[in-house]
Amino acid sequence: MFDYLIVGTGFSGSTCANLLAEKGNRVLIVDKRNHIGGNAYDYYNDHGILVHKYGPHIFHTNYKEVWDFLSRFTEWRNYQHRVLAYVNGKLVPIPINLDTINLLYGTDYNYFNINKFYEKVKRDILVHNARDMVVSKVGEELYELIFKGYTKKQWDLYPEELDKEVTARIPVRYNRDDRYFTDRYQGMPANGYTKLIQKMLDHKNISILLNTDYKEIEGEIKFSKMIYTGSIDYYFDYKYGKLPYRSLNFKFETLDREYYQQVGTVNYPNDYDFTRITEFKHLTGQQSARTTIVKEYPCGEGEPYYPIPRKENRELYNLYAEEAKKLDNVYFIGRLGKYKYANMDIVVKDAMELIDIILKG
Ligand code: FAD
Ligand code: UDP
Repeated sequence: MFDYLIVGTGFSGSTCANLLAEKGNRVLIVDKRNHIGGNAYDYYNDHGILVHKYGPHIFHTNYKEVWDFLSRFTEWRNYQHRVLAYVNGKLVPIPINLDTINLLYGTDYNYFNINKFYEKVKRDILVHNARDMVVSKVGEELYELIFKGYTKKQWDLYPEELDKEVTARIPVRYNRDDRYFTDRYQGMPANGYTKLIQKMLDHKNISILLNTDYKEIEGEIKFSKMIYTGSIDYYFDYKYGKLPYRSLNFKFETLDREYYQQVGTVNYPNDYDFTRITEFKHLTGQQSARTTIVKEYPCGEGEPYYPIPRKENRELYNLYAEEAKKLDNVYFIGRLGKYKYANMDIVVKDAMELIDIILKG
């Protein structure tokens, strides 16, 4: 008899498992994959390079409580992610900053007068969607150069068909700061994400079952409550129809050279079928004579990596969320359980809050 059945060993499920086990609850955590860690899973490939199986993951947060909690399970490698975009034959910093403008336009704006450029190009419009979000800050030309093609590739939708939050993730800078994130706490787990999550789950009150879809064992195992971090539409047997997700094909290449590119990630908004190339050694700091890169090819079918933020999908999700509310003792969280385009820190924060509520309950 378990107090909790937790479905999914990603950051959501593992955070819940750890916090519940610490309070003396007996937890069974299951995953249909053959490993723990969810989409943050990393491993050493055949060439001895630490890679992220489901795409590059960089940790960043402004939530001290999340940083402190995760720091119980790992040391951090100090890392600030940097991204360049290949545009008009040049590599320019992303998010757009002072140097992006000067490089693209051959200008020499400085910190004190760059506002003149932005004032000239930005549009005074009401922001309804992901296109407006960009155009209101940098105008049509930079939107076309950096956002339109990338977004169409990534989502198979034009930015005007997506919620404004999608492109709001990328700020516009009036200075030279070329870091992708400016959160107070940033870094990479010193020994990788899988090790971090392994440590979270390493508790006498936690049992782990891999290679198991929870539906295979639900009837056979006794438990009081369930925390579900899989796709919410699957839980309800798609009774209202399938929620759309965007998937990716990852193409890994290991090269016989020390480094492939200057920075962690290079985006290709207007060239190739892939969106970006990431070189893991920049993220992990690993030393090797070889290097592994990954190209991300967006696609429709496959693992549900990205909930697609737009009105009709939210409405469909809300039908499932209403069903979920009717259930006693089943809690839905995580990127898939809440159909929410959330980073790792947000799913950890949500999980911490849920456990707080349950334990007070
Ligand atoms: P998941 O990690 O998806 O875990 C859910 C788990 O549930 C999976 O292991 C799955 O196998 C299991 N499961 C599902 N259904 C069942 C079932 N029926 N039975 C048993 N098990 C089941 N976030 C950042 O903060 N920084 C980044 O740089 C970053 N980069 C990303 C890059 C990519 C390409 C992607 C796709 C995401 C990225 N994210 C990043 C987001 C990050 O992956 C998520 O925030 C985080 O992994 C969500 O954790 P989760 O536990 O909610 O879900
Ligand atoms: N985006 C873009 N061009 C870029 C970078 C981002 O158009 O060079 C848009 C695109 O729609 C992308 C979104 O901004 O999906 C969010 O980017 P982010 O890098 O946060 O995506 P993620 O890492 O979650 O895939």
